[in-house]
Amino acid sequence: ERPALLTDIKVDIRTEPLTERYSLTPGKELGRGKFGVVRRCVEKHTGTEFAAKFVRKRRRGQDCRREVIHEVSMLELTSSCSRVINLHEVYETPSEMVLLLEYASGGDLFEQCVAEHTGAFSQEEVKVLMRQILEGVGFLHSNNIVHLDLKPQNLLLTSTNPLGDIKIVDFGLSRVVRENQELREIMGTPEYVAPETLNYEPITTATDMWSIGVLTYVMLTGISPFLGEDKQETFLNISQVNVSYTEEELEALDPSAICFIQAVLLKDPRARLSAEECLRHEWLRGPEWQPHTRKETCIGEEDPPHTPDKDPGVEELIVM
Ligand code: ADP
Ligand code: MG
Repeated sequence: ERPALLTDIKVDIRTEPLTERYSLTPGKELGRGKFGVVRRCVEKHTGTEFAAKFVRKRRRGQDCRREVIHEVSMLELTSSCSRVINLHEVYETPSEMVLLLEYASGGDLFEQCVAEHTGAFSQEEVKVLMRQILEGVGFLHSNNIVHLDLKPQNLLLTSTNPLGDIKIVDFGLSRVVRENQELREIMGTPEYVAPETLNYEPITTATDMWSIGVLTYVMLTGISPFLGEDKQETFLNISQVNVSYTEEELEALDPSAICFIQAVLLKDPRARLSAEECLRHEWLRGPEWQPHTRKETCIGEEDPPHTPDKDPGVEELIVM
């Protein structure tokens, strides 16, 4: 029961060589995904920089052009949201498709907060970034779109110094959720996958909210909360919601940040805060809404501490 991929796109697919109108910038690639590379390039007649995402049409011997068209379609659906990367043009060759995307020069959050432990964000920065992520995710959800692959690698920054704006990328796994149509599929990245996805239970917008919880934990501490020695252990940790709130890295944090994480890392999808509710949570809401009377109380977590592997592990796609 594979949910329908979108097939309608507005953009005209160009088939002439990319290099007629773009020059690929020599040097290191911007990123490498599962099915291709992302490289910097310059549109010759405007001098504007773009990120060219090259995606192979054949993967594991299967024609995946439909998947790429779906990704293009999703980017078109979200084009009015400033928190989502903008799609400029699309090229196609016999073997691959090339998506020309707005260039985010700050790189992804993985490089910023996981790979380089030293360059981790301050609590204030995490708040600023998380608000923007939630604005973007709130936009997606209000349009019945679930991203299903929210993780540091898929969240980019327009600049790092000063700290720029968040751009959500990689709609390869995203889907439109329809009221009367259940979506069940195993996908995503082990560390960020929600319990309902593992249990083959319906996927909803709340599935993204789980990833928001994992992401917040990672951004604040550099620790991936469910990562185990292997995939099996990671999945077990997730389905048991085996998360430690007693790590040393959490001690110095604003208690309302822990509250926030606990309000989304809940096994029952219906119990999790929505993106809108997250933005109104004590941790994130502006001082103008701060009540003067009382503090929200957290549920104390007395789980035995476990030490997750700090190695973020390889990005891996689970396919049924
Ligand atoms: P995949 O589907 O293979 O994961 P992504 O769209 O996530 O591909 O791109 C892979 C990586 O390339 C990202 O993690 C990011 O580091 C980099 N990247 C992608 N798009 C851009 C962009 N518009 N600007 C700068 N870097 C980008
Ligand atoms: Mg990606």
